[in-house]
Amino acid sequence: MKSTQTWQILLGVALLLFGVYVAIPYGTFASAIYVAASVFAATAVVFAVRHRAPFYPAAWLLLAYGLALCAIGHAIWYWLDLYGLEPFPSLADAFYLAAYPLFAASLWLLGGQNTRDDGALSDALIVGISATVLSWALLIAPYVYDPGLTLLQLLISAAYPVADLILLPLVLRLVFLHRTRLTAHRLLLVGWFAYFAADLLYAHGNSVGWYAPGGLTDGLWLIAYALFIAAAWHPSAAVEPDSRASRAELSGRRLLILGAASVLVPAVILVTAGTQFEIVRVAAIASILLFLLVMHRMAGLLRETHRQAEVLEGLSQIDPLTGAVNRRQLDYELKRELSRAVRRQTDLSIAFIDLDHFKQFNDTYGHQAGDSLLKEIVAVWHGVLRPTDVVARIGGEEFLVLFPDTNSNQAQIVSERLRNLMPHGQTFSAGLATLQPDESAENFIARADNAMYQAKSRGRNRVVFAVP
Ligand code: GH3
Ligand code: MG
Ligand code: MG
Repeated sequence: MKSTQTWQILLGVALLLFGVYVAIPYGTFASAIYVAASVFAATAVVFAVRHRAPFYPAAWLLLAYGLALCAIGHAIWYWLDLYGLEPFPSLADAFYLAAYPLFAASLWLLGGQNTRDDGALSDALIVGISATVLSWALLIAPYVYDPGLTLLQLLISAAYPVADLILLPLVLRLVFLHRTRLTAHRLLLVGWFAYFAADLLYAHGNSVGWYAPGGLTDGLWLIAYALFIAAAWHPSAAVEPDSRASRAELSGRRLLILGAASVLVPAVILVTAGTQFEIVRVAAIASILLFLLVMHRMAGLLRETHRQAEVLEGLSQIDPLTGAVNRRQLDYELKRELSRAVRRQTDLSIAFIDLDHFKQFNDTYGHQAGDSLLKEIVAVWHGVLRPTDVVARIGGEEFLVLFPDTNSNQAQIVSERLRNLMPHGQTFSAGLATLQPDESAENFIARADNAMYQAKSRGRNRVVFAVP
């Protein structure tokens, strides 16, 4: 509870600084607030690493160092501007741009080093490249050839979108990577989108000439900083991102997003290409059609994969938890053994086994421990049974064991052996039955089931013979 309040208070303070900066007229005081807010952001993130032990400390430290470089950049920028010197381009840009590699490394580390997840990265690149082309076309390209700009101004205004082009896929990778998202990551992601928006507006404003300090564009960076602070201090920053959910899964919805992103680029070509290059427009239309067709093929593959997964599940004969035969396969095994016993005139016995007070075991040690116990029980049974015997899991803690070629005495001996092998003091109640002449499978199992209930009512932890 204490830490929850801390991140909220810090977020509040940072947003207050943003409000004050935007509200008051631009001047020395506003600049001081801005620099203070950025120093505050860098410091607060460092303190979070020290006192809140976030899960990827290096990632957050790199973010803090990047913010510190930005703070120095801001100090230089405002100092130049207030003294009537040209702040763009200037040394400030060197500090701003130097922060990007640190930000990139921070984002990379935050995603975890799971090399199998290159699907998330390629998805991120598809969307990132498309978004960059679009924002370039809409915001930068119309003004980049403005003859009023010096070459240095041009290069530096282009450097920001290019740096963003590198960061954006890393941010998107985080979006695609963790389907169960942590609040800390959410805050961070929203912060980064605010940061990108500020960069874009700044580049655009500088190219066109409407940018002036002290407004909402600069304020957007402060909002990003505030969200970074909140993310670093949020308790969920200390939680390990769920690795099970980190496999980048290609869902139908994701495919739609990737398709839309891919089609956007030729759409930009189509809209911006002049009429004198007819072939460019034809090629752009063809590209759109080609992307759509490729997506259509991928959707078909996706459906096929899902269908095959379903088929595979249907074909499965094994209970995934214990490795015992599942209920569906038991029907098949039982029919086969039944007809074999009749044909060869051999004995067939079965044991209907139900663990005693298993609910209590779960309640005491947890469901996870219960699962492990089930697994362990089947493993020790398999260790002593014949290869021809079949252990089937027919319910949560209910098993049916088939003993081919085994009469009632032998079945009794084996069942007692299984009972004595039970780990962790767990017991079971079992009903034993040996196949009668002309008996149906249903009747056979029902007799064993009834005997099991008798074992329960006679005090559990025993094996009871079924009446013929
Ligand atoms: P009884 O001696 O009368 O059989 O008591 P019981 O608690 O074993 O019987 P009951 O049928 O009331 O409860 C069975 C319990 O088995 C319920 C559930 O907690 C537990 N169980 C069932 N399936 C699983 C499973 O897959 N994993 C785990 N861990 N527990 C299971
Ligand atoms: Mg039961
Ligand atoms: Mg039970």
